[in-house]
Amino acid sequence: MEDYNNDLEEVISRAVEGGVSNIISIGIDIPSSRKALELAERYGFIYSTVGFHPHDADKVDTSKIDQLLKLASGSKKVVAWGEIGLDFYRNYAAVQNQVKIFELQLDKAHELGLPVIIHDRDAHNEIMRILKQRGNKDQKGVIHCFSGDYDLAMAFIDLGYYISIPGTVTYKNAVVTQDVAAKIPIERMLIETDAPFLSPLPHRGKRNEPLFVKHTAQKIADLRNMEFEELALQTTLNTKRIFGLP
Ligand SMILES: [Zn+2]
Repeated sequence: MEDYNNDLEEVISRAVEGGVSNIISIGIDIPSSRKALELAERYGFIYSTVGFHPHDADKVDTSKIDQLLKLASGSKKVVAWGEIGLDFYRNYAAVQNQVKIFELQLDKAHELGLPVIIHDRDAHNEIMRILKQRGNKDQKGVIHCFSGDYDLAMAFIDLGYYISIPGTVTYKNAVVTQDVAAKIPIERMLIETDAPFLSPLPHRGKRNEPLFVKHTAQKIADLRNMEFEELALQTTLNTKRIFGLP
């Protein structure tokens, strides 16, 4: 994203020096999916995704989705399809278009055998309904920036999905997310930055970056009474498993 135009190299070196082993750079439309792949082609430890965010659903059609399909099938560095999903909070795109574009992209991901990264904002029931209805037991995926409660997390886990916890878990009032992070099975949990958004404490309100994932990991380790290293190891293994990283 443009937020890193001036200091991308420094942001990446800070992450590496701070112990971040891999980065997955996310696509939300055609230009960002291309840029993410360029980055992934430049750095061995960086991977990328392709996807259309629900915000753009009014502007997407099958030919644009096919461009992403081409991008995704042309490189081993594309490890997932997403962000895709539904956003009934901002509602930048019509609901029926969001649903249509979400389902079309679920089809493409399944066709390519790629896991999906799902954005779910105030759309828990609809996303659950769609995923259940499709019943693709072999479709792996992650609910990114998970914002639901423990019961919802377990329902997604039962469907075969992983739950990704963002930096917001460090905020004092984030009791529901803290409850999820403390209780879900560790084998199904991922940790993410969602950079440049959702900076964890002590960087709340400022630009987020990959290195800051350590603050999120530390908070979750504390919530679970685990060592930081153990949590980091387990969530790294989970990430490698779902995205097929070496
Ligand atoms: Zn999102």
